Formats: sequence, C-alpha cells, structure tokens
Amino acid sequence: MSHPGGGRGDRLEQADHTWGSRVNYGSNDNQNSPLHLAAIKGNIEMCSLLLKFGAKRYVTNHINRTAAQMAAENGHFHCAAMINNFVPQEEVRYYTLPEFTGAEPKLPPELEGIFYRFIMMTNIHPVKVVFELPPVFLVNDNALKIVNVLQLMSKRQFYKKEECPSTVEMLSFKFHYLATILFELAKPNDDTSKKQTDPKDVFIQKISTVENYLQQFLYECIVKFCPKDTTLFRKMVSYMVQGMDSLPPLDIILLLVGNKRAQSVESTAEPSPTCAACDEINPSKKCPKCKAVQYCNRECLKIHSVMHKKKCKQIRKEIKDLKSSEETSALAKCLSKIGIK
Ligand SMILES: [Zn+2]
Ligand SMILES: [Zn+2]
Repeated sequence: MSHPGGGRGDRLEQADHTWGSRVNYGSNDNQNSPLHLAAIKGNIEMCSLLLKFGAKRYVTNHINRTAAQMAAENGHFHCAAMINNFVPQEEVRYYTLPEFTGAEPKLPPELEGIFYRFIMMTNIHPVKVVFELPPVFLVNDNALKIVNVLQLMSKRQFYKKEECPSTVEMLSFKFHYLATILFELAKPNDDTSKKQTDPKDVFIQKISTVENYLQQFLYECIVKFCPKDTTLFRKMVSYMVQGMDSLPPLDIILLLVGNKRAQSVESTAEPSPTCAACDEINPSKKCPKCKAVQYCNRECLKIHSVMHKKKCKQIRKEIKDLKSSEETSALAKCLSKIGIK
C-alpha cells in the first residue's frame, strides 16, 4: 500500500501494527473503543486513521453511544461530522476499475482523489458545495459520469448490512443530493443571450436573486429521493408538513444530513458561529451595517446581501429602539435622582 506524504505513512503503518484486529474492542470498563476515545478527545486525525484501518463507527460503549455521539456530546461537532461522513476510499476506487465488458471505468481514474475529497466534505450547504466543486467536474462529460457514480453510491449504501441504518440513510441522501446539485450545474444553459457563463456563477446568482429558488430546488431534491420507505425520508416529510412549525427544505437537510446533525445531539457546548451564506464555521467578517450576521468573506456577503437586506433593516431598527429605550430609562433615573418626575 502506498502512502503519500512520507511521515504520515509511517504513522499509518504504526497505527495498523498497534491496533491490529483489536481496533474495535473496548479497552476499558466503559467499553470505549479506540475510536470512542479519540472522538471524546475530538482528535479528528486519529479518528480518521482508525476509520481507515477498519474501526466500525456503529460500535457502542456502556451507555449505548457511538463514537460520533460521544464526540458531539463533548462539543466536538466537527469530529462527529467527520465520523458520520467517513467513506472508505476503496468504495470510490471500485468505480475507477475497468469494466468486465471492456468498457471504460465509470469514474476516470485520475478523478479518484479529487472526487473522494469532494464526497467527504461535511459542510453540505449548497453554496459551500458549489464553492468546493472542482472545475474539472464540469469539463467534457465528467459531470454526467460523476452524477452516475454518485447515484450508484447512493443505492449501494443500503447493501451495507453491518452499518447502522441512520448512517446508511444519511450517506445515501448525501450522495443523491450532491448528484442533484451537479446535475443542475451540468444542464445546458437555457439562457442563450448569456454566452459561456460559468454554471457555478449562474447557480449562485439564482440562489441569491431569485426568491424561493433554492428552497424549491431542495424541495424537489427531497421529493426525488427514491428510498421513500426510510426513517430519514419520513422525518423530512414530517418536518415539511408541520404547519406553523414546518421547516424550509434547506434547514431540514442541514439538520438531518448536514453539519447541524451533530449539533442536534444533547451537548452542553455552544455550537460555533456560522457564515450566513455558506454555513462554514467561525466566519471572520460581520455585516458592516447591523454587525449581527457573520460571513466568511466578501463573496459570501455578496451572495447573502439580497436575502439579508430586509432583515438587516429590521435588526438595525431593533437595536436603535433598544438603545433609545435604554437612554430614556437612564434619563428618567437621573431626573428622579434630582427629584424631577
Ligand atoms: Zn461563507
Ligand atoms: Zn446586516
């Protein structure tokens, strides 16, 4: 087996040698597996190594919690998301092998690494997916090949008998969802007046300017998810039809499949602030007007500005009202001190 990156490879071999077949066994009274212990500490690199060497994420400890649940309970949401989203690279490599029929592989072998990194992403907000989508996916007929592989992977999850059903359903939906976005980007541009625009820009522009475009797009994505007889699909539908309490499709996807999934677990830790446009954690910029909403950069601010306009005005008004009511009460206090009512 070849390990790119020298030193990293040595550590991989070492981990394999040390853990060996004991990788899934509880090593203490709490029946925590090595993956549990790494997850409790929030050690993403170690969790990733253990998973690569066969650690099973469905193994539970004495309180019936998986490693991802333990990570989330300890506030390591990113680590929990990584464990939930982990896919062995062999699953991708399988599609790069020549077909028995002699036809070319379903996935061009040179795309294996780049495709693998793409499907392992944990923040699946559509804006982030489009940002991270490698441009080579949109070259020639790569998009249709990748859409096909994603659809096959989506179906294949259900053949994993060992895996816990919620992970199977979540990964199956994730691949269907990524395929839906890529298919949308690969569609021929129906607006012939615009020549040769980048499909990523067209999609982002529609999201930020066409009202309800994104929610309608994601609603269709949920409805077209084929395995209807799943807990995940039933949950999604129930969230959509709860009347006043119903959630928009984007929130449903982020909550049940995306990075809000880990945060929904009982935890005393506060979730990190996220970008209003792409949901990436710990954004560095604030809306210059209301300072109440955060963004990664100017690009994210621009995408979200149209949607935020109304809300921004409302927030600024609320802050102003609050300040003036504070000032009035402070003034009243001063006046009452000197005997004026
Ligand atoms: Zn962002
Ligand atoms: Zn604002």
